[in-house]
Amino acid sequence: MTRPAPAIVILGNGSLATAQKIQQLYPHALIHGLAGRVEGADRSYQEFGATLRELYQQDIPIIALCAAGIVIRTLAPLLLEKGAEPPVLAIAEDGSAVVPLLGGLGGVNVLAREIAAGLNVTAAITTSGELRFGTCLLNPPSGYTLGDLEQGKRFVSDLLAGETVRIEGSAPWLAQAKLPEDDQARLAVHVGHAEREPAANELMIYPRSVLVAVSAAVVDLSVAIGEALHQAKVAVQSVACLLACETEMASPALREAAFELGVPLRFADGADGVRALARRMIGQPAVICGDDTIAIAVAEQPLDPLQIGRARGRLAVIGLGPGAAELMAPAVKAELACANDVLGYETYVRMAGPFRADQVMHCTDNREEMQRARHAFELAAQGRSVVVVSSGDPGVFAMAAAVLEALHESSEASWHNVDLQILPGISASLATAAQAGAPLGHDFCVLSLSDNLKPWSIIEKRLDLAAQADLALAFYNPISRARPWQLACALEIVGKHRKPATPVVLGRDIGRPGQTLRVTTLDQLTPEQVDMRTMVLIGSSTTCVFPRVEGGQWVYTPRWYK
Ligand code: SAH
Repeated sequence: MTRPAPAIVILGNGSLATAQKIQQLYPHALIHGLAGRVEGADRSYQEFGATLRELYQQDIPIIALCAAGIVIRTLAPLLLEKGAEPPVLAIAEDGSAVVPLLGGLGGVNVLAREIAAGLNVTAAITTSGELRFGTCLLNPPSGYTLGDLEQGKRFVSDLLAGETVRIEGSAPWLAQAKLPEDDQARLAVHVGHAEREPAANELMIYPRSVLVAVSAAVVDLSVAIGEALHQAKVAVQSVACLLACETEMASPALREAAFELGVPLRFADGADGVRALARRMIGQPAVICGDDTIAIAVAEQPLDPLQIGRARGRLAVIGLGPGAAELMAPAVKAELACANDVLGYETYVRMAGPFRADQVMHCTDNREEMQRARHAFELAAQGRSVVVVSSGDPGVFAMAAAVLEALHESSEASWHNVDLQILPGISASLATAAQAGAPLGHDFCVLSLSDNLKPWSIIEKRLDLAAQADLALAFYNPISRARPWQLACALEIVGKHRKPATPVVLGRDIGRPGQTLRVTTLDQLTPEQVDMRTMVLIGSSTTCVFPRVEGGQWVYTPRWYK
């Protein structure tokens, strides 16, 4: 697995120069700066502690430019919960000290050495094994995996106590290590893909050199894979990836089996059966065993799963929420971080960024929704990870329905095979309501006043019935230059059923810079107070208003009804 790019977290402008030097070493890393204190960061955050903990929980390597103590205290509550940690480093603001704190098995010392070299200082490495041998035996390079961590720790402490070691099998990276080698040693590092019980005093390291090609039709797939590996005497730890025919891309059984094995799932054209599929993919002399449903191929070298066939494409339709980063769901942030392509109306794509140089942005006009949806499927069908952005929630007058409509209309199997996910966001009506209090605290009705995609007569009918039913009302798309008269007409219909003093909330650019919130009444409301960036909430007969001590008013609709 490749690690995500590190996050460089700074508290003040004084650290920016050092942060930028580190960013040159990791061009995909983003600089996170404290809002109001740092200008020129890629992302701004409100609260240091919450931000650091969120990054840690998302397994993102953290490079914090502040005192080590601050980082330790901030992450302390999380440390006991987690087995595997991302690398965490504290770096002096002026770049004079690089201190690896956590994530020894996640390569923190490697990062520390790289950063220290970039800053022309020496990293404060404290791991005895690394200092003595120049490498972390417990953290083999990608393509290899350690058999048992606890056993490994004992092994390293024996070495530190003065024991010597034999190396069996091929471990090219260990050649550079300053291990006390001796052919007669009691301790041995054994590198190989064979399944066997480790002998006493033996550290097992498995090359990830095995590919398992399977048919999704196998009953109890992961158990069957385990049995096939056992029969072939191949260690499950050596499996680099699971491979299947691309016609079976959407199979949940395959996904589960890959998940249980903890390996990537790849696909290729497999019309000629799994044995041929496995042989074709490895492209080098390989031992093949197994049958027509599960074939095991062992390569001479570790395999890079990214070079084998292709992944199942993914298309996520995401909601950014109203705009503020803290109102964006963590699942949405994670999806944006691993996207290859980001599609959407330019304003929203920009709001979702910034993006790394390897991520492709496809900005289009707001009206080209169906075309954008089809383009998203074309990209995802190639195995890419694609995100379509909407503001608020993607299912509320936004892209999710357009994407599903494009899929429904299509008979293209590769589109239907895409892993399609809709990730929700906080919709403008709810974000606005929350700022005003609880105007939608009882039954309410959500309407778009745009007659671009539906006849005005339908809107009039719905308005009339909803107003009559005494539902609180939330108007999206209330007005635009191309639709100047509709709002006045809508208010006239509502006015037939509601008192003039009915509370009204106008939220403009809620959750975005320059947001405004205004509380007024139905008789005072005029279309000039509203534009296309405004959310209009109209109360029901029970909605009430009272002053807030800090100024302004609270608006709420009680949950009871007479
Ligand atoms: N999917 C979006 C709505 C898209 S329709 C959501 O769930 O919020 C666009 C309309 O939403 C705009 O015309 C405006 O009425 C409203 N809107 C979207 N974002 C807003 C914001 N930040 N503040 C106020 N209104 C907003």
